Amino acid sequence: MVHFAIRKSGFSGNGGIIGDRNSADHSGTATGYTGKQALAHIFMNRPILLAIDDDISVLEAVVQDLRRQYGSTYRIMRAGSGQAALDTLRQLKVREEAVALLLSDQRMPGMTGVEFLEHAKEMYPEARRVLLTAYADTEAAIRAINTARIHYYLTKPWDPPEEKLYPVLDDLLQDWNAGYQPKFEGLRVIGHRWSLKDHQLRSFLSRNHVPYRWLDAAASEDAQELLKERSLDPEALPVVLFSDGTALVDPEKDVLAARVGLRTQAAQDFYDLVVVGAGPAGLAAGVYGASEGLKTLVIEPLAPGGQAGSSSKIENYLGFPTGITGADLGRRAHMQCVRFGAEFLTQRATGMRVEGQYRFVKLADGREVSSHVLLLATGVQYRRLEIPGAEELTGRGIYYGAALVEAAACKNEDVFVVGGANSAGQAALHFAKFACTVTMLVRGKSLEASMSKYLIDEIEHTSNIVVEPDTQVLSAEGSDHLEALRLLGPQGESTRKAASLFVFIGAVPRTEWLPDAVLRDDKGFILAGPDLTVPEKGSLDGKASGKFASIWKESRVPYLLESSVPGVFVAGDVRHGSVKRAASAVGEGSIAVQFAHQYLASF
Ligand SMILES: Cc1cc2nc3c(=O)[nH]c(=O)nc-3n(C[C@H](O)[C@H](O)[C@H](O)COP(=O)(O)OP(=O)(O)OC[C@H]3O[C@@H](n4cnc5c(N)ncnc54)[C@H](O)[C@@H]3O)c2cc1C
Repeated sequence: MVHFAIRKSGFSGNGGIIGDRNSADHSGTATGYTGKQALAHIFMNRPILLAIDDDISVLEAVVQDLRRQYGSTYRIMRAGSGQAALDTLRQLKVREEAVALLLSDQRMPGMTGVEFLEHAKEMYPEARRVLLTAYADTEAAIRAINTARIHYYLTKPWDPPEEKLYPVLDDLLQDWNAGYQPKFEGLRVIGHRWSLKDHQLRSFLSRNHVPYRWLDAAASEDAQELLKERSLDPEALPVVLFSDGTALVDPEKDVLAARVGLRTQAAQDFYDLVVVGAGPAGLAAGVYGASEGLKTLVIEPLAPGGQAGSSSKIENYLGFPTGITGADLGRRAHMQCVRFGAEFLTQRATGMRVEGQYRFVKLADGREVSSHVLLLATGVQYRRLEIPGAEELTGRGIYYGAALVEAAACKNEDVFVVGGANSAGQAALHFAKFACTVTMLVRGKSLEASMSKYLIDEIEHTSNIVVEPDTQVLSAEGSDHLEALRLLGPQGESTRKAASLFVFIGAVPRTEWLPDAVLRDDKGFILAGPDLTVPEKGSLDGKASGKFASIWKESRVPYLLESSVPGVFVAGDVRHGSVKRAASAVGEGSIAVQFAHQYLASF
């Protein structure tokens, strides 16, 4: 075992920081560098796990356990008090170093663990925050989930770490890693803040979890230098720069998809099950279909996660007591599907046809794939704001469900959110972390009628969110980008300076590409199971049941989630009468696979 010099003061009552002994070990092995350079190099590239405890022996034990499991990937640091840990974080922040995890004891003199984590959140909002508590402090820890937004609490002792510590930290670090962009690595995108193309390109990369760094062509000197260095035309933007020195100028999505390693061509022509859409419903079907032996293909033009992918935090999904971002949920589910053997295709379905037992899906590039069973899980898309100016300014200050992609660009700005349901509430809370102020424009008299109580409470406790009820947006103004909004509120009409407006005003289904034989209600939601045979008052136009009789020629009635075309099932938000929740979409996607089995058994 290698022994290292430890600065003893680190464990004193005042606390202090002790360097990463493990890194010192590595410095000697890095050839071609001086010891200092090697350390700098290692430090730059390895994110930090920081353990905090005033009790030397406990701190030492935590550090040893962390090092054993994570020492090769992360730099393990320690602090003997909350104050010392905050000082260190401040220095790390100045050096732009990445901190992945803060693991703090709760009972410390001077500053409790919760207090420390609350302060630390200001500097490193993305770092995973874990509280170490005695059993007696469990109640306080649970309360801290809300106040300090801690991600997890662990009770002492955590032995054996293989069971009680590592699984939790693995999970948290995996989540952190998904959003982590290492310095100077990966893709760089140079574009204009107010360009629709640039916004779409960044959304595509973000949603596919491709790490990139965005540089504003107008404001960043680095961007101008990079364009010059590579002889790229500053007028032809956006441009994607790859680490191997190559670039793609204003690329088509499929070209970019292929370049970043996404599959755009199916491996086979025929599958047992083709799922269209990789939101929660499609992903659940992917997991159950593939795990139960069906050759499964999932088609998704954007990225696994669906609408949930744009949700900054889903707090009511079972099994995630501190919430989970939609992107994380999508990423995990995608991994699970792939693990079971499901194939993913980055494509949009543009048509569907039936030939005997085969269901064909036409793809945007003109190719087709076929299957015995087809599951439509295409969800809904944001309803557009139909006011003068909105169309021209979309992507130039007006955005739909882009809370995650645009949040950083709105740093220190005044942001407007229109809508009063949960999605608007989540977005407002997310923007509040970056923006100077967030104004919620709500048509109703209050949020109570349309938003969950936990979100209303959080909004009330967030000082930079202002809710303006009884307010409508009349028009959007601006030449190159959004500059002002004309509003109608309780005091009458007013014009407000605005650079960003995020719209969350409901959603419509995406079913226009389907043939008429797939019966839909008057809003475009797909009818399935009993809804085809027992018309509901007001939802069917009366003609649908007649149409059904002319289409359906089976001797049985449709299965619960089967559409008017045998073997074509529907799950999630796109289904007529569905509950618009992630959990119910997951439930329907899973159940649909059971019916797929029954349908296949009848062959
Ligand atoms: C901002 C926001 C916050 C939310 N918060 C919560 C919450 O906290 N809790 C909760 O329970 N629910 C929440 N929801 C609702 C939840 O996300 C949805 O109910 C759920 O995502 C529905 O899943 P789905 O699979 O049916 O559809 P979607 O999630 O809409 O996924 C459908 C997928 O199909 C793809 N698709 C569409 N057309 C095609 C095509 N032609 N070809 C191929 N693919 C296609 C889309 O790109 C999309 O990825 C939120 C929604 C939003 C927008």
